[in-house]
Amino acid sequence: MEAFDKIEDIVGSNYVSDSEPVLYSYSRNADPILRGKPDIVVRPKSTEEISQIVEVANETKTKIIPRGGGADLTGGAKPIGDGGIVIDLTRMNKVLDVDLKARIVTVECGISWSELCDYLSKIDNGLYTGSTGPASGFGATIGGGLSNHSVGGGGAAMYGAVTEQCVGLEVVLPTGKIINTGAKANSFMDRAFSRLGLGPDYTGLFLGDVGIHGIKTKASLKLYPLPEYAAFNTFDIETTKMKPSVERATEVMLKWQHKNIKIHDFYFYTETYARLLKMFQVKKSWTTADIKGSVLFYVTVADSTRELEENVEKLDKIAKEAELRKLGPRVEDGNIAKWFYEEDGRWQWAHIYFGMFGPGSGSLGTCLKAPTDLLPKYVDLYQNWIKANTKALAEVGGGTADFIVFGVYPTYIDVTGGISIKPRPQDYEKIYQMWKSLLISQIKELGAMHYWMGEIIGHSLVESGALTPEYFEFMINIKKALDPNKIMSPDKFYLSKQY
Ligand SMILES: Cc1cc2nc3c(=O)[nH]c(=O)nc-3n(C[C@H](O)[C@H](O)[C@H](O)COP(=O)(O)OP(=O)(O)OC[C@H]3O[C@@H](n4cnc5c(N)ncnc54)[C@H](O)[C@@H]3O)c2cc1C
Repeated sequence: MEAFDKIEDIVGSNYVSDSEPVLYSYSRNADPILRGKPDIVVRPKSTEEISQIVEVANETKTKIIPRGGGADLTGGAKPIGDGGIVIDLTRMNKVLDVDLKARIVTVECGISWSELCDYLSKIDNGLYTGSTGPASGFGATIGGGLSNHSVGGGGAAMYGAVTEQCVGLEVVLPTGKIINTGAKANSFMDRAFSRLGLGPDYTGLFLGDVGIHGIKTKASLKLYPLPEYAAFNTFDIETTKMKPSVERATEVMLKWQHKNIKIHDFYFYTETYARLLKMFQVKKSWTTADIKGSVLFYVTVADSTRELEENVEKLDKIAKEAELRKLGPRVEDGNIAKWFYEEDGRWQWAHIYFGMFGPGSGSLGTCLKAPTDLLPKYVDLYQNWIKANTKALAEVGGGTADFIVFGVYPTYIDVTGGISIKPRPQDYEKIYQMWKSLLISQIKELGAMHYWMGEIIGHSLVESGALTPEYFEFMINIKKALDPNKIMSPDKFYLSKQY
């Protein structure tokens, strides 16, 4: 194959493959049903190699799909339909620079969140990017997080989505040209420090783009000191029905967000999810906890013990006024917030969704962002959808459908959820349609903002008709200008069919 030989000349024979087992293993991401087998997989080591590969793709009119850790839950890091070249960035995993004066770290985009967090925690008494990254952070990369607008535990309530910390990028455009965005777009400046200046925010054009506008090769992110003091409390919200407990939790979450207190994280676990955490013994000592209903917890941070005490006092007062029952301070007492902050690495809470029903099982992800006050409406929608689909879901290997909620700076929430399922190949199409129907109802009935736009969610967004014709045309025109040959992830949002 012409493209293969040319790419082999660029990266050497050890880092390019068209062997069946390799292609097969790159045909999937972390979700249980989406498939798309590439023709070639390549693992470049530098921006220049990527640029040359993209040039080959233009010459041979072959599509390209960038991939970080492949932890995507919506089919974004594999081809949509078969064919094309998957570019795996995980060999590009170096920390390039830590600018302690400007408080900026610059990395190659294939580094994982766990590698970066570990590296930064050892510098200058402990630093981080205001986030420990998504809950897939053991394998997921900075490039994937920035392309998916990822948001997860470990700082979301205080610092927001990971893209909010990005001050500049190096990108290989769909033509193969290489650009810097942010301060370094000025060729007389060699340090990244802000992305806001020199005209429009073109860094933003590449953030959350799921790789349709280019391949991010380097990224610069803000740095913060790891919090010196932290306190955590967990509340039980007893209830016989889900709805009243959700309404009470929503009231408290809104008040917490409006108070301008340093809340690093807060989470709401539904009754079902709290039960699952106990059942699956995510934390053994938690199985004895006196939890009867759903759970709300916070982590607050401070620069002094006095500030910390004041924060706790203010947050607890709000919870008390809403008559939430505070659990004891130890993990054994039910203080899951302590486990979350001190032991969990702020990631493991998500892991029970996956493999719950054994090998081959997984989760159909439906995570979304919404204003906090919409949570009760979301619960209604979700419960109605589940009620209407319980039988059909059971017929295709579906089981638990649930979600949790966490706070995102400044005043919204992320409703992180999915349907745990163990699918059989003959049911994939049926499952795909059911999954899409839930996504579309979230988009239409709630006005939800999804952010991993990979395959199924990007397609659902377009099919739902949520984008105005003017907006979609604007999006198509940008894509067309950047990628005239339809090289870079062209099938996302059905864009390849639009020009
Ligand atoms: C257990 C588990 C927990 C999860 N928890 C969270 C969570 O808390 N929050 C969250 O947001 N997500 C979560 N996810 C979903 C997903 O893992 C994240 O969105 C993550 O950021 C993906 O990173 P990745 O490196 O694996 O990207 P990939 O899966 O490789 O790619 C994701 C998308 O970005 C594109 N892309 C990747 N790298 C680049 C690049 N360098 N340049 C251009 N485009 C690129 C791909 O084409 C694809 O569309 C979770 C997934 C799992 C399995």
